[in-house]
Amino acid sequence: TTALYIVPTPIGNLDDISTRALDVLKHVNLIACEDTRHSGKLLSHFGIETRKTALHDHNERDRAKWIVSQLAEGHSVALISDAGTPLISDPGYHLVNHVREAGHRVIPLPGACAAITALSGSGLPSDRFSFEGFLPAKEKSRLDKLNALKEDPRTLIFYESPHRIVHSLESIVTAFGSEREIVMARELTKTFETFLSGSAADVLQTVKDDANQQRGEIVLMCHGYRSEETSEFSPVVIDTLKILCQELP
Ligand code: SAM
Repeated sequence: TTALYIVPTPIGNLDDISTRALDVLKHVNLIACEDTRHSGKLLSHFGIETRKTALHDHNERDRAKWIVSQLAEGHSVALISDAGTPLISDPGYHLVNHVREAGHRVIPLPGACAAITALSGSGLPSDRFSFEGFLPAKEKSRLDKLNALKEDPRTLIFYESPHRIVHSLESIVTAFGSEREIVMARELTKTFETFLSGSAADVLQTVKDDANQQRGEIVLMCHGYRSEETSEFSPVVIDTLKILCQELP
């Protein structure tokens, strides 16, 4: 079927591409890449010779119209980004929106995503979470954003860049307090994969003291807000007290 396929690519380990993804990339008429040179390396590694076109933040709206015209002519298209799942802090939203409005099929493939990979290994509650993308670069906007999230009970997930990690951790200590539990996942699926966890103040200190912790790709996660009643006694203690109360005369 003629369709726009949304195809995740690895976030480090090349073995994380699916056989279905390789099959789609091989058989579509065109691959829309965030960066054709970057993706060229990945595609040639897998022996994929499909024609490429660039689709990035600066040309997405124009290119979307042209891609719709390609679909109208019966040509299937795959969208990939530099790494991970397209549209997740990456281009593609305008394209998918436009393609759907034009009445064409959109077929998303599941695959690598740094946020989900990080969350699943973090040890933080995963029943409810909020993906917040990148924190603002300017301190004032960053603190405004964090203050608005301060009492959110869900696990919060942020993407980070290595040169801003210390500033972001400092803002988290300021907005959420030094005791908020956080987990920093670095270089996921790669040789130097590291998880750092502890209080916001402790993680900040560790990252400040060790320049290696400021390198590579980073996902930052914060435990959600715990109201007074639940933070004073852990759920285990509360459950134990309930059982004791039932047993007492
Ligand atoms: N679309 C991608 C995805 O599905 O995860 C995210 C693209 S976004 C432009 C890049 C950010 O994702 C990085 O700054 C980092 O926060 C996170 N990221 C990507 N790969 C990662 C990895 N291997 N380990 C940790 N974080 C990673």
